[in-house]
Amino acid sequence: MNVPPARTALPLRDELVGIEPYGAPQLDAPYVLNVNENPYAPSPEVVADIARDVAAAAAGLNRYPDRDFLALRQDLAAYLRVESGVELEPGQLWAANGSNEVMLHLLQAFGGPGRTALSFAPTYSMYPEYARDTFTGWVAGRRDENFGLDPDVARATIAELAPTVVLLASPNNPTGTALPLATVNVVLDAAAAVPGGCVVVVDEAYGEFRRAGTPSALELLADHPHLAVSRTMSKAFGLAGARVGYLAAAPALVDALRVVRLPYHLSAVTQAVARAALRHAPALMAQIGSLRAERDALVGWLRERGLRVADSDANFVLFGMFDDRHGIWQGLLDRGVLIRETGPDGWLRVSVGTPQETAAFKDALVEVAGL
Ligand SMILES: *Cc1c(COP(=O)(O)O)cnc(C)c1O
Repeated sequence: MNVPPARTALPLRDELVGIEPYGAPQLDAPYVLNVNENPYAPSPEVVADIARDVAAAAAGLNRYPDRDFLALRQDLAAYLRVESGVELEPGQLWAANGSNEVMLHLLQAFGGPGRTALSFAPTYSMYPEYARDTFTGWVAGRRDENFGLDPDVARATIAELAPTVVLLASPNNPTGTALPLATVNVVLDAAAAVPGGCVVVVDEAYGEFRRAGTPSALELLADHPHLAVSRTMSKAFGLAGARVGYLAAAPALVDALRVVRLPYHLSAVTQAVARAALRHAPALMAQIGSLRAERDALVGWLRERGLRVADSDANFVLFGMFDDRHGIWQGLLDRGVLIRETGPDGWLRVSVGTPQETAAFKDALVEVAGL
């Protein structure tokens, strides 16, 4: 047998050499408040419904699934109609294994070599990875000091760079801030003026947590064929483990994504899980109401203690500022509370948990930060 010499090199792409895989540390802690999961596990009724439908799907697993998942697209359209009041056709819906895969499909279809994807930082740290993995150029413009987006800056940056994709997270991660629709409209107009075209993606992974009066970009779909609004079942639905994300857009945009997806990318099991969970949407919406109230109370509590807190329309809160944020993060972890050391220097992010988890976080923070 030939033993390969130790120096045998793998032909890894230059831009991947030395890169660590993305991901928050999955540490064992009594209170896990670091990745914006829904703290409530699916109820026994939801679990039973999922189990029954997965069993039915299992009986047909010798066959490939419906590759266009028409029933699921219909259910998603029906859900969004109730959630945001916007009428959508099933042909305007697309889904994949997490909204991360939805985003990858978007970059595969509309990015590529010689093209540019643009976002405004601080924002979701996965965006540059989708760009890298699709050989798309990446530019991060800046948000303002309150983590909003100055419409003039957005307009000028788009005119200057002529990107083919603009990614706007709203509510934004890690800041929690939502963009006014007026700002999204400015971006849409600037994108429409890009020669050759530009797709605007509004990532509403946290859309269900928006405060009363904060509209959804879904309302802009009817007038904008170059807009895609993505959502996920990972956060509000408490289904991060199932890996289901989706988007709404004009049928022509969705058709472009059908070209780049892998064959049968959404398994029969995944489709069954998602559809069963969607039948329980009304109960889940009620639970989201209590998480929103818990979030608003936490924002108030942190501000009363003199901390800076970014406005949040999400299920997490960005707060600061700390000279030694790593020390605060470590001190909390030493007391059993795992949060996320992310965002601009001096800031930390905590997910909204159950009332017990939030109480544990507050107690630990009082001790560690001497509030
Ligand atoms: C959590 C999150 C997602 C969701 O990812 P999934 O792949 O659907 O789990 C998407 N965008 C942002 C900004 C997020 O924070």
